Amino acid sequence: MDFKLVDEFIQDVENSIQVTKGNCQLKDLKVGVDLGTAYIVLVVLDKANNPIACELEFAQVVKDGLVVDYIGALNIVKKLKAKLEGRLGVELTRAAIAVPPGTGEGDCRSHRYVVEGSGMEVTAILDEPTAANAVLNIKDGVVVDIGGGTTGLAIFDKGKVVYIADEATGGTHLSLVIAGNYKINFEEAEEKKKDKDCQREVFTIVVPVIEKMASIIKSHIAGFHVDNIFLVGGTCCLNGIEEIIEKETGIRTLKPTNPFLITPTGIAMHC
Ligand code: ATP
Repeated sequence: MDFKLVDEFIQDVENSIQVTKGNCQLKDLKVGVDLGTAYIVLVVLDKANNPIACELEFAQVVKDGLVVDYIGALNIVKKLKAKLEGRLGVELTRAAIAVPPGTGEGDCRSHRYVVEGSGMEVTAILDEPTAANAVLNIKDGVVVDIGGGTTGLAIFDKGKVVYIADEATGGTHLSLVIAGNYKINFEEAEEKKKDKDCQREVFTIVVPVIEKMASIIKSHIAGFHVDNIFLVGGTCCLNGIEEIIEKETGIRTLKPTNPFLITPTGIAMHC
């Protein structure tokens, strides 16, 4: 895996939030829908996986992989789809989706119904870290996706998934701890956490939660030969998270420059 290529690719996806990519084939478009605890993201790639456009919205309609507000989720996916279609001038007809590892069949169905309700056929349902690995393309090691609500992981051995797991504890928990410490509301805590100028101060407060994430990873990889941990998911944008996880697990921990859009992009690659 070449992190430099991953970084350039994800930068392209991020740029496509603002500017629709020109010179791309608008036929057979691939869509990835990530219905997350914190963000709903739609990534559009062309047939050759070139990033074309991306739309996202902060939303609290999914909790730990469960759609808790079906109508809310449906309305946001419809809105983001319409925005993308307006930008591209074509209808988006199919999409891949992903859920945290171990999500039950019933809960997978509710994710599917949201996307189908928006007018797209669901072509694949993946688990999040496995989807992310379509971008990273690692053969051996563990991909850990720390999103808003959960820490999910997939262990790869010679390119094959041999184990998946998911546990509650994600960025939302960090924000709750920040909110409690500063006596501010959740939304303000989210902003503070993402503000680069505050991150150093905030980091010391959230270290115990990151240690908990590390212990989740450590307990699930025990019994497997794992040399490298690869971090993805919005929460891994935090500077220094990789150092705590490496220290706690004793395993080399790597992350791309921008871990945030890796999973939704990987989902789209499976469409
Ligand atoms: P899940 O996968 O758990 O259902 P999700 O798909 O919404 O959730 P992501 O979109 O990968 O998860 O990440 C969202 C989380 O990442 C939120 O908690 C958000 O606050 C956090 N986050 C996003 N950007 C940053 C940043 N720059 N620094 C710190 N945290 C960030």
